[in-house]
Amino acid sequence: MADDAEDYVMWALPVRREQIGAAGAWHRARELARGLHPALRAVVAAAWPDVTTALRIGTIPPMPAWPATAVTLIGDAVHLAPGFGANLAMRDAHRLCEALAEANLGRLGLLDAIGGYEETMRRTSFPSAEAKASA
Ligand SMILES: Cc1cc2nc3c(=O)[nH]c(=O)nc-3n(C[C@H](O)[C@H](O)[C@H](O)COP(=O)(O)OP(=O)(O)OC[C@H]3O[C@@H](n4cnc5c(N)ncnc54)[C@H](O)[C@@H]3O)c2cc1C
Repeated sequence: MADDAEDYVMWALPVRREQIGAAGAWHRARELARGLHPALRAVVAAAWPDVTTALRIGTIPPMPAWPATAVTLIGDAVHLAPGFGANLAMRDAHRLCEALAEANLGRLGLLDAIGGYEETMRRTSFPSAEAKASA
């Protein structure tokens, strides 16, 4: 029952693999949080050590464009989405809905509308080469 669930805060500290080290995840997180705002340090310090874990997250390369057809992609079918993928699926749904409404109003052809939606998704959902180089 959700009514019986204890309130909790879920947090993540994004680091590179080399920064994880051999110490337990919670101990390492406390070390890495040293330079953060005191409120954030307090959140990490109050975490439950036995359920603090290192979770590997990866990225996939930018997708080359494909020709738009009446079949398109949305959500997990196209995004690498560890953990918070429902947000991406909802954002896709919102954008696709707007694109289809434009087509329905005759302001765009159907394939142009879908192609525009896919181009926006490709542009905003995959790290650019420049962003990866500077990370
Ligand atoms: C354990 C776990 C925890 C998660 N936690 C979070 C979280 O805390 N926050 C968050 O934002 N996201 C979370 N996610 C991710 C989130 O659940 C997904 O990103 C989201 O559900 C994707 O929605 P979708 O519609 O793209 O895909 P799905 O929800 O997977 O929907 C795809 C649907 O297509 C159906 N289907 C598949 N093949 C066929 C077929 N051939 N014919 C007809 N139907 C088919 C499937 O049955 C399914 O109903 C979590 C995922 C998992 C697995």
